[in-house]
Amino acid sequence: MPTSSANQSAISHEWGPEAAATRAAHGFANRFGRAATWIAFAPGRVNLIGEHTDYNDGFVLPMAIDRYTAIAAARSEESTIRLASAQMPEESIFAALLTSSPNQKSEILSHPSPPWARYVLGTLALCADSGLHVGPLDVWIDSDVPLGAGLSSSAALEVATATLAEAIAGQTLDPMAKARLCQQAEHQYAGMPCGIMDQAISVCATLGHALLLDCRTGETRQVAMDDPSVVVLIANSNVKHALCDGEYASRRADCHAAASALGIVALRDASLPQLDAAAKQLNPTIFRRARHVITENDRTLAAAEAIARRNWTTAGQLMYESHVSMRDDFEISCPEIDVLVEAAKNIGEARGVFGSRMTGGGFGGCTVSLVKADSADRIADKLRREYRARTGIEPTLFVTSAAQGTHIAGRA
Ligand code: ADP
Ligand code: MG
Repeated sequence: MPTSSANQSAISHEWGPEAAATRAAHGFANRFGRAATWIAFAPGRVNLIGEHTDYNDGFVLPMAIDRYTAIAAARSEESTIRLASAQMPEESIFAALLTSSPNQKSEILSHPSPPWARYVLGTLALCADSGLHVGPLDVWIDSDVPLGAGLSSSAALEVATATLAEAIAGQTLDPMAKARLCQQAEHQYAGMPCGIMDQAISVCATLGHALLLDCRTGETRQVAMDDPSVVVLIANSNVKHALCDGEYASRRADCHAAASALGIVALRDASLPQLDAAAKQLNPTIFRRARHVITENDRTLAAAEAIARRNWTTAGQLMYESHVSMRDDFEISCPEIDVLVEAAKNIGEARGVFGSRMTGGGFGGCTVSLVKADSADRIADKLRREYRARTGIEPTLFVTSAAQGTHIAGRA
């Protein structure tokens, strides 16, 4: 569901944590008639490269975007946890306090709250299991991360919630343990079996860095991405084709089948020569699925090196190659997304575009492009006009650089 902010142009709106804090503080005061005590933030993210590599034990290279979910809270006089969001019409009142009791999960899951409240209650319940108790609370949420656009508003909400719990409890969790806790909230309470990438980047991002994440070991490496002459342009196609969920499951099954046929635990362990040698035993579709994952892992590692050296031409080229691989081998693109990538490529490096690709699970959502900062507005305008002319759909575009991960604004 798009938020009202999803349709605003990047340039005319105040973004970033301070703006989010101001909005959350006002929202809290309007709704509850007093000031918030704590405000926590967590950013959305974009994956620069490394698509469908996570569940193959591979590498991903996400970056936090300058769009935040802010969560403002204060003690309540009642024994309840009351949740309200600027993005949602329905509030939630959970008439119990979250402690680590065995029945808690079923109480939350059977509670007649709107579904979005489970992301927050689930995270708070798992925080309570880790000894972080928040007590009775009034909570107001506001977000600039467009909901359901593949920029991970769900992880931003979970991570902001966990950061809030840390501030209230006066204790901190290990960063990756916190990311895993939030991932578990999404698995157990929202019913979404996501990987660790979204929560890891929302927790671990540092300003001016992308994050190379090894999905097998959980190891992370900060990759400097602080060249002021280059920015990231995100174009939301505003299209999401419904076949997405079934296709995701079938891609996972294809990858599993390929790994089994190759006699390895996960495609992370395969090389291209190894795959070529086994080509005759594999059905052609499985072969192409595996080829995407194997080459995408290589591209992700190469892109991290290129970005660290500010070699934007190479990084951009790898992004184009990633897109072709997703489109032809993994077959997860769609005509609208291909229009956006093609339009970016046609603009070319001389006019400021280094590279572009679909980002996220597929079948719609966003493209991510590396562009020259001083050409970004003109490029965004050109993409918008071209996309509109060829599809009849209005895209949403915005520019971002590598943003800071979750943090607390202290006492408001
Ligand atoms: P994405 O993570 O790509 O934005 P998801 O479908 O994973 O998409 O998560 C979107 C869901 O997360 C929303 O439908 C809602 O339930 C919850 N959510 C995210 N942000 C907010 C918010 N600001 N207020 C309330 N719920 C939110
Ligand atoms: Mg999500």
